[in-house]
Amino acid sequence: MISSVLPTYSRAPLSFVSGAGSWLTEADGRRFLDLGAGIAVNALGHAHPKLVEALTAQAGALWHTSNLYQIPQQQALADKLVDATFADTVFFTNSGTESCELAVKMARKYFYDKGQPERVDIITFDGSFHGRSSAGIAAAGSEKMTKGFGPLLPGFVHLPFGDHDALTAAINENTCAIMVEPVQGEGGIRPLPDVCLKGLRDLCDEHGILMILDEVQCGVGRTGKLFAHEWAGITPDIMMVAKGIGGGFPLGAVLATENAASGMTAGTHGSTYGGNPLGCAVGCAVMDIVTDPEFLAEVNRKASLLRQKLEGLIASHPDVFESVRGTGLMLGLKCKVAPGDFVAAGYAQEVITVPAADNVVRLLPPLTITDDEIAEAVARLDRTAASL
Ligand SMILES: *Cc1c(COP(=O)(O)O)cnc(C)c1O
Repeated sequence: MISSVLPTYSRAPLSFVSGAGSWLTEADGRRFLDLGAGIAVNALGHAHPKLVEALTAQAGALWHTSNLYQIPQQQALADKLVDATFADTVFFTNSGTESCELAVKMARKYFYDKGQPERVDIITFDGSFHGRSSAGIAAAGSEKMTKGFGPLLPGFVHLPFGDHDALTAAINENTCAIMVEPVQGEGGIRPLPDVCLKGLRDLCDEHGILMILDEVQCGVGRTGKLFAHEWAGITPDIMMVAKGIGGGFPLGAVLATENAASGMTAGTHGSTYGGNPLGCAVGCAVMDIVTDPEFLAEVNRKASLLRQKLEGLIASHPDVFESVRGTGLMLGLKCKVAPGDFVAAGYAQEVITVPAADNVVRLLPPLTITDDEIAEAVARLDRTAASL
């Protein structure tokens, strides 16, 4: 008999009942060190006092009105995002998938309005992940996600990861945008080198193509900059954001330049919940914390500390690990064992990690993780490796 919850997930036998900082408490009382952070969502850990305060204060005042009216919290969050980034304008969503939908629509509408309606093709890389909507699965293109779901949304061109020559050859008069994750998350923590991002930006400029970056997983301080593309010294035309921006509240956003957003006039897009007062109140609190240069400096310092300890960890378990990769607090342990087995063995050591493609175990701890917790995390990962 089918379970009352649609069985689309294979879930671990763990039920967490509360969380504080980097720790999760299971129903039986065990305390787990959380190196997954809800897949990079709980960027500030669990029950961060500033986020609890922002959410509860807003909950007592007003939950929802509608985008038929002005929403001051939405305006405030848009202003913060515009101040802190390349963007001139922001649309709020409830998820990364919805951000992908708008990014695709915005890019196509841009060329339609410029009198080039044939320019609809969006180039993506193998191993990418952009969500589970019809556009999202068509964009990523892997058979695992698309098989059986009928005709795919046309207009996506899939190329080998980071293959600049293939890219140059694939661009033609129908190309509208290139859409990439600066650091692939689901694909196995694969950073696109800075020179590649710069090269992509140059190609886009040369051919008048829009650059869409999916920073749903790697954004909001995760790599030690507010957004990962800042390391390469380039800016996109359109950027998808979600996960960390809500700190656990469902919130996403599409950021764009005035030029890229020029087709999105009144009535061309909308959302019932997107940008509601609750989500935006929390988003403002998240932004106030993660845009502090001292906070980002700490993320970078702790990222080097963790990285250094992980190099030691893999050296002492050459039968389990191959290498460490990634950037900032978005790290991957390339494994010689099945990543799912490692993650499951971690539960016995009360440490949470997340599997990814390409035989990688992901480490995406809260950005607020302490030095002591980093030491404890590596000790638990060490015991996990020893148990295999
Ligand atoms: C998680 C993720 C998405 C999809 O976000 P949802 O909130 O699950 O819809 C899209 N792109 C990337 C890079 C992601 O990591």
